Amino acid sequence: MRVLRVALDVPLATLFDYLAPDGLDAQPGDRVVVPFGARSRVGVVVEASTGSSIPAAKLKPLSRVLDDAPRMPAPWLELMRFLASYYQRPLGETVIGALPPRLRSLKPLPKTIRDAAAPPPASARFVPNHAPTADQSRAIERIGGTLGGFQPFLLHGVTGSGKTEIYLWLISRVLHSGAQALVMVPEISLTPQLEARFRLAFPEARIAVLHSALQDVPRTAAWLSAARGEAGIVLGTRLAALTPLPRLALVVVDEEHDTSFKQQEGLRYSGRDAAVIRAKLAGCPVVLGTATPSLETWHNTLAGRYERLALPDRAVPGARMPAVRMLDLRQEAAEQGFAPSLLAAIGERLSRREQSLVFINRRGYAPVLACHACGWTSGCERCTARMVLHKVDRRLRCHHCGDENPIPRACPTCGNVDLKAMGRGTQRVEETLSARFPGARVVRIDRDSARRRADLVRTLEGIGRGEADILVGTQLLAKGHDFPLLTLVGVLDADGGLLSTDYRSAERLYATLAQVAGRAGRRQQPGEVLVQTYYPRHPLYAALARHDYEAFAASQLAEREAAGFPPYVHEAALRAEAGKLALAMDFLRDATRLVPVPDEVRVYDPVPHVITRRADLERAQLLVQSASRPALQEFLRAWSERLFATAPRNLRWHLDVDPIEFD
Ligand code: ADP
Ligand code: ZN
Ligand code: ZN
Repeated sequence: MRVLRVALDVPLATLFDYLAPDGLDAQPGDRVVVPFGARSRVGVVVEASTGSSIPAAKLKPLSRVLDDAPRMPAPWLELMRFLASYYQRPLGETVIGALPPRLRSLKPLPKTIRDAAAPPPASARFVPNHAPTADQSRAIERIGGTLGGFQPFLLHGVTGSGKTEIYLWLISRVLHSGAQALVMVPEISLTPQLEARFRLAFPEARIAVLHSALQDVPRTAAWLSAARGEAGIVLGTRLAALTPLPRLALVVVDEEHDTSFKQQEGLRYSGRDAAVIRAKLAGCPVVLGTATPSLETWHNTLAGRYERLALPDRAVPGARMPAVRMLDLRQEAAEQGFAPSLLAAIGERLSRREQSLVFINRRGYAPVLACHACGWTSGCERCTARMVLHKVDRRLRCHHCGDENPIPRACPTCGNVDLKAMGRGTQRVEETLSARFPGARVVRIDRDSARRRADLVRTLEGIGRGEADILVGTQLLAKGHDFPLLTLVGVLDADGGLLSTDYRSAERLYATLAQVAGRAGRRQQPGEVLVQTYYPRHPLYAALARHDYEAFAASQLAEREAAGFPPYVHEAALRAEAGKLALAMDFLRDATRLVPVPDEVRVYDPVPHVITRRADLERAQLLVQSASRPALQEFLRAWSERLFATAPRNLRWHLDVDPIEFD
């Protein structure tokens, strides 16, 4: 008897045994069709065995093997097993969830992508942009020398130090040997420019781009091209880390500190951590590139687990790091959100035909609409949150649940018609700047202006060519872009990150500011960064002004160690959402009694989320900590097994291992 253990995406369950009919060559890694209840399902064989705990008479034979995708290689199955066990999710959900949606279904593939492409061209022609600098050469030689074995690197280079160029040189070696390189970026919006750079550098290479915004067929085609080993370069967001790559020889994670690498639903994996595991399983180097390493990565580097390669200078000859200066709002009062000296600096850039970027990490016109007569504010009916005023399309919109309403003409409570927009977001900043500088071309970039990806790409290219004078933007604009004419960055409203109760907010603020500051002065003209603040002497700003990440990281790690926070302890969160908060709290309280808690593990009391209600669900969470990763993992395994078995159906719950968001 030959029994195949098949992963299916069935809630609460994981593997199902099927008989292998005689003459059917089904192996671990094959996608198969199996009978399940009254219907058929697509599954993946993860194990073959000669017996089953289920009586032979009850076992059904599997129906057929699907041959439109290649058999998943053993290291890929191993990766799935690791992720399912580390993040405490069913293996079936993990395996099936890693396939593009089309390959989870019984729908046959279109003819155009069914068959393997012609073998890739032999040429791995590489068109370098520059001769590498001495620092770049050192990094290329060191990393290149480890091709063929596992070694994690932190490529710690200031903004504009030529990290991407290093990736190109390394990829050229990988392509030359006929192998595959996986390159991960945090945001979909960063893929087009990187893809364009890769296409110029490798005119004949096959590049597969993978992210969740792709249509069904192109996404499946890209996945197949990666899984068949045809694509030499696989470029994508975190989900690219879960693609089978039979000839993987190099992994690159660009902007490794970025929190977008963490998946926030289902299998809550870190794309960066998955990439490191991936490289380990494939036996190849992994390069984590950033100007501001995550404190986890920095800690791993200090501990000698990752090797640091430093690029302290900008790569373009003559380009220097921008001068960073604080504008003390206690000394010069802001008008409509702007310190007079920031406005003057923007005016200077306009007269020199250089670009300015004004950074404010809040989209919309104003975060709240208020009535000063009765105290009414624009609250969301479904969330513990305010609705944001969007003036462009005249809506009030909740950024937590997506609900929206027209802007009321008068206060819904007292009828007062003089409603006030409080605070400011990108739309208001855009309005202020357009009024202040009537001749200037002001361009706003945020998630509202960039609804359509093609438009965003076109706008970004236009900015690169100088088709804008003043840019107003959120994070979306801060990440990774290279605008040659940009010499001034102004930062509004950064202080919030200094005052937050979330211990990670300082780390995030530093990374964001270093990133956005890094947009300035990337060519010969020197760049200037002006940060408006009420705390001009805050150590975080002082470190930023000196471009001294190491001092900042040292002080943060000291604080974390003293307070017992990651990376000195490991964490998991158990979260619950229900119609009523009491239900969620009771569930969490009961959960703490399901299994004995070992001495090395600490389980905290449940607390409601800060934004307690979101989309009509009330939410609470509890934190689990341990200094020992194995102890935490062992506890979580036993715990989640009991949770899956006993959790009531009238609430939603999940475990988040290595959580990073606590709102
Ligand atoms: P990073 O990825 O670190 O931000 P990039 O690789 O994008 O840096 O390089 C920043 C700028 O420096 C780009 O305009 C790039 O063309 C240029 N550059 C990179 N390496 C060199 C080099 N060796 N010589 C001259 N210019 C370089
Ligand atoms: Zn009122
Ligand atoms: Zn809402």
